[in-house]
Amino acid sequence: RLAQGLPDRWIRTICPYCGTGCEVDMGVKGGRITEARPVLSSPVSQGHLCVKGRYGFGFNDAPDRITEPMIRRNGVWEAATWEEALAAAAAALRQALSVGGPDAVGVLASSRATNEENYLAQKFARLALGTPHVDCCARVCHAPSAAGLGQTFGTGAATNGYADIERAALLMVVGANPTENHPIVGARIRQRVRAGVPLIVVDPRRTELAELATVHLAPRPGTNLPLLQAMAQVILGEGLADGAFLAARTEGIEAFAASVQAWTPERAADLCGIEAEDIRRAARLYATLRPAMAFHGLGLTEHRQGTDGVTALAHLALLTGNVGLPGSGVNPLRGQNNVQGSAQMGCEPSRLTGYQKLAEAREIHAQVWGAEPPQGPGLNALEMIDAAGEGRMKALLVIGYDPLLSHPNALETAENLNGLEALIVVDLFLTETARAFGTVFLPAASPFEKEGTYMNGERRVQRVRQVVPPRGGSRTDGTILSQLAERLGAGSHFRFPDAAAVWDEARRTWPAIAGISHARLDREGGVQWPCPTEGHPGTPVLHAEGFPRGERVRFRPLAWQPSPEAPDAEYPFLLNTGRNLFHFNAATMTRRTRLRELAAEDLLEIHPADAEGLALTEGDPVRVESRHGAFILRAHPTDRVRPGEPFATFHSAAAFVNRATGPGRDAVTGTPEYKVTAVRLQKG
Ligand code: SF4
Repeated sequence: RLAQGLPDRWIRTICPYCGTGCEVDMGVKGGRITEARPVLSSPVSQGHLCVKGRYGFGFNDAPDRITEPMIRRNGVWEAATWEEALAAAAAALRQALSVGGPDAVGVLASSRATNEENYLAQKFARLALGTPHVDCCARVCHAPSAAGLGQTFGTGAATNGYADIERAALLMVVGANPTENHPIVGARIRQRVRAGVPLIVVDPRRTELAELATVHLAPRPGTNLPLLQAMAQVILGEGLADGAFLAARTEGIEAFAASVQAWTPERAADLCGIEAEDIRRAARLYATLRPAMAFHGLGLTEHRQGTDGVTALAHLALLTGNVGLPGSGVNPLRGQNNVQGSAQMGCEPSRLTGYQKLAEAREIHAQVWGAEPPQGPGLNALEMIDAAGEGRMKALLVIGYDPLLSHPNALETAENLNGLEALIVVDLFLTETARAFGTVFLPAASPFEKEGTYMNGERRVQRVRQVVPPRGGSRTDGTILSQLAERLGAGSHFRFPDAAAVWDEARRTWPAIAGISHARLDREGGVQWPCPTEGHPGTPVLHAEGFPRGERVRFRPLAWQPSPEAPDAEYPFLLNTGRNLFHFNAATMTRRTRLRELAAEDLLEIHPADAEGLALTEGDPVRVESRHGAFILRAHPTDRVRPGEPFATFHSAAAFVNRATGPGRDAVTGTPEYKVTAVRLQKG
């Protein structure tokens, strides 16, 4: 720091990594970002940043960042002007439309991009291409949260905010490891636990929070539903439910009670591989210490019954009256910085802006847009790629998304992507998808090079500010989309003077954000929706007085289906996958920063007894093979995982962990079953 000198100026924006949404001041010297420092006044991060927010900005000036457009000719990427690249992209989209109509084109939008860019991406799909096939990476993470919470409470987002961590009498974390994946939330939870607040952790691994927990339940991967149903059975069986809340605000409790009666703790414990008495302890704590606040992550959603798992957790909150109160509720820990926003902005094949149902919101969109959105629902992200394999999808526009590396069952994903005639990539770097299948590359401005807003995991809209100008010839997604739309004859729908004007149009389509303007955010800081008018203070706690669809909500009896990814003699281990503290998802950004020095490669956590049985020691290569594919990682023996349940981080293309994950999908949302894969291990 001494060598480079102090920054010339500081610009306040939002960390571009996880959905916590920490505010950060970026220091700029000589036109380059040199430093990041936390914001003391931030209600989210309260003067803290994790290692990614603090040291993860170097990707902005990475030497391999692509800052000029390219077109692939005869298999080779060649430099192109913007005019040539946009013309090639538009021609490819027009060609696909002429051959296969609107079903032959699709858009994968970016949960790293701003709300405004995502609003434009779905509008581009629907108006410039006339297709309903638009989705974002919420599909591969928290779509089951939106569906499960939406069908239970009527709003598919966190019911409460992070400040409620300090108001809860009990905290419960299900299938999430916030200490590593949402570190500022994790730190706030840890502080409360150290101050004496009881904590329940549901996680197959002994995470740092599990070490501190009053009760740690470590269910076998794939058995969340039996566990949560058994907790409901205990709460009802022991008379711990909140009768007044059930009578006043719910329907269908009798049928629900009958449906969980058979889920005794003993039956669930047997399936989960845990103690029945621990299930009882957890249920009693959750039901009796009010208010109780639940958080959950991808350990709950990335299953064949991900939506049912989230619904089961929402049922526990209803049973105990933990809805509509400060310090309570059901709160998904959203993954990417703006994954909440990308889905809320309408990058969802069956929803328009505001996650409003197509049928219900078509009219308002037609009024505001001056054109009808196409009928839907469209295909989701995985179905679009399936359709490419079947020859129905001809051209995809992929914005800040690397499906080849991040989708499961990578060999099949590759085969399907190979069926595309055109794959137009908007990104900072040549992703694995771009490298293998891209036909046109349009270089995007980074998160530090644009204006707009993000929406964090507690529904807080916050301002993203330009810290430095776009590097080289790169352009913002908004500019790229509007220039493409001009070439497709739809330019009149995409002429906005700035990001604030785009946001203002989105506000006219979704009443819950009508009161949140850029100017207000600049004046007051972040605001949590619903916020219907400029004078409204925002809504930190949802459902305090009724639900969007009325005064009462209905329980939905759930039936458990065991995953076919069960271990057997041939594939005796159950593989679980996830992130580590230092990298983010496909590591497109983090591996180009100093964080690489802290975690250079992915590792396979394996129980010491399993390691011994396979003659593995620390650092030995181990081949992990499933029924779908194989990868090799270095072994890291640790008793953080249970015997028979290895855990792999999935950040690098070198490891390509998703070669082994399977084709299983959540029955409601299509979210992949990343968390349960039967594998065999062999010293590599
Ligand atoms: Fe960024 Fe998330 Fe870390 Fe906050 S907790 S600094 S948002 S990565």
